[in-house]
Amino acid sequence: MFNIMNQAIVIIAECRGGKPSPGTYELMTLAEKIRRAKPLPVKAIVLGDEVEKTSQEIAEATGASVLGIQSPHLKYYSGELYKDLLHQCLPEMNPAFVLVSQTTQGMDFAPGLAVRLGAGSITGVNGMSWDGNNICFSRDAYNGKIVLEMLPLMETTVFTVQPGAFKSMEPETTATPGPVEIRLSTTESRNTKSLGIIRGEQKDTGLAEADVLVAAGRGIGSKENVALIEQLAALFPRSSVAGSRPVCDSGWLEYKKQVGLTGATVSPGLYVACGISGAMAHRVGMQGSGFIVAISTDPNAAIFNIADVCICEDLTTFIPLFMEECKRKKRGPLPEQSK
Ligand SMILES: Cc1cc2nc3c(=O)[nH]c(=O)nc-3n(C[C@H](O)[C@H](O)[C@H](O)COP(=O)(O)OP(=O)(O)OC[C@H]3O[C@@H](n4cnc5c(N)ncnc54)[C@H](O)[C@@H]3O)c2cc1C
Repeated sequence: MFNIMNQAIVIIAECRGGKPSPGTYELMTLAEKIRRAKPLPVKAIVLGDEVEKTSQEIAEATGASVLGIQSPHLKYYSGELYKDLLHQCLPEMNPAFVLVSQTTQGMDFAPGLAVRLGAGSITGVNGMSWDGNNICFSRDAYNGKIVLEMLPLMETTVFTVQPGAFKSMEPETTATPGPVEIRLSTTESRNTKSLGIIRGEQKDTGLAEADVLVAAGRGIGSKENVALIEQLAALFPRSSVAGSRPVCDSGWLEYKKQVGLTGATVSPGLYVACGISGAMAHRVGMQGSGFIVAISTDPNAAIFNIADVCICEDLTTFIPLFMEECKRKKRGPLPEQSK
């Protein structure tokens, strides 16, 4: 039987533009929650071609001890190299919990890393509870309709954590900076070489500026019904149309309109979700909206758990009726009604 008390909580930091990503500080929040249940040291690993500044920043903001692994071959992300380098350094840290953000990058390397370490793997974590004995992790299943609760049973478990599920840890200006160690590596990936990252054209999406977003989901049924969503959006000033991933994958809306994990994160005053089930990957992009209205035929749709107004109706029936009612209200009462 292993003794967890000699182990550690290790977060794998993700960096963007030479800075720790917001998700890195969300992992720190989860690490802190675990630490309150099991008082284990919190450590962080930063990988990249220039890691000193980022490692220092994390150590100063969190007080965690940080290992920076610097390699000229890590100018661009390489899943293969991540797995190789982490497999080399993690065993010496004896981690019980390895925390990785559930981003495109994290999902790419975390399960393979778990296999290399002979560890368990729990993906898509969005909650944690502690009953005095066991730490239980939860994740959504079936597009958020049910919640799975899982106990890690292995000596080491690699977790991917849903962005937005835990509040970002505020940097502790009073924390004593943790120790930083930088290791230089010349290891190259054996089978693949990253040539670079080509960024998509950054056109104005209209999503960030909109006060009202009307979002289309797969439930709109066809490209023709995008017109219905546009008409609904047109009722509101400073509004724009957004969409869930299947709608963009189907080519009904451009990708720049996608909201969610791999799309935009938005927080308009009003978000109207039309035919959207509310999968976690969509919710993380819009749950900060001021007021949420959801229209779905499924009374158990997860979007209803976060909506302020839930309309369980066929959107092709409800939206035309709603628009007609708005027009009628705008016209004012009919003469015979005003008596
Ligand atoms: C790595 C990864 C990244 C992802 N990133 C994103 C992302 O950025 N954004 C995103 O949105 N998703 C993302 N997804 C996909 C996500 O997991 C869901 O599959 C997706 O959000 C579901 O889209 P939806 O709600 O439009 O469709 P569905 O889940 O199919 O939901 C359709 C809803 O419409 C309802 N409906 C059907 N007909 C009608 C009708 N006539 N009137 C009213 N309601 C109706 C249904 O009951 C259902 O509730 C990602 C997935 C992965 C694995």
